[in-house]
Amino acid sequence: MSARQLTVRFHGALNDFVAPERRERAFTHVLQGSPSVKDLIESLGPPHPEVDVVLVDGEPVGFGHRAEADTTVEVYPASVPVPLPELPRFILDVGLGRLSGFLRMLGFDTLWRNDYADDLLARLSHDESRVLLTRDLGVLKRSEVVQGYYPRATDPAHQLVEVVRRYGLTSRMRPFSRCIACNAPLSTATPDEVQGRIPEGVAERHSHFQQCPGCKRVFWPGTHHERMQNLVDTLRRLEQSS
Ligand SMILES: [Zn+2]
Repeated sequence: MSARQLTVRFHGALNDFVAPERRERAFTHVLQGSPSVKDLIESLGPPHPEVDVVLVDGEPVGFGHRAEADTTVEVYPASVPVPLPELPRFILDVGLGRLSGFLRMLGFDTLWRNDYADDLLARLSHDESRVLLTRDLGVLKRSEVVQGYYPRATDPAHQLVEVVRRYGLTSRMRPFSRCIACNAPLSTATPDEVQGRIPEGVAERHSHFQQCPGCKRVFWPGTHHERMQNLVDTLRRLEQSS
């Protein structure tokens, strides 16, 4: 009996997950059983949340479609920017703590904890329609995950640029509106309200404060704020130039 084979081709950014000799070209794959298209794709590398369209012999199919011998499977990534609701929400895995701080700094509702288990990440992402960001492909390949992305960069600021570009977030940023530590929306506070909770000297130099109703932290336009403002300005320039 001859081997049951099919032809596969990955397009665009999906090639980041594919073995070098298989990038940007059609290749032959030997079928084991009759896997779903999702399982076939993921066994070759790319996680399904980064896949937008799958064509089998030119016809679009869903992830549940069974792969068959002597067919051609073409797999396309989503085109950028990927559409999201007006106020997109995120959930990040353990390894992306600094990226979660950046997303909160830009005003996006971002869940992150240093003890989220894989199944909880996937379930919260599904149940709360949150984009899952993770560099753990095993989590991203869980079938509950609908929206997700694997940041290519390891540097948090570069990861932020990737995410902002992928989802076209620049126009939806509300910088400094959310607590970087606990994700709660900030409220404005008078000097009187924050008295005793800010370093000596700060009260004399500043009259505008924000406080977090969750963790009670107080924020004011200090040095930290300036560095963050530079990052926000850089992101705005990036979108104008793209
Ligand atoms: Zn807080």
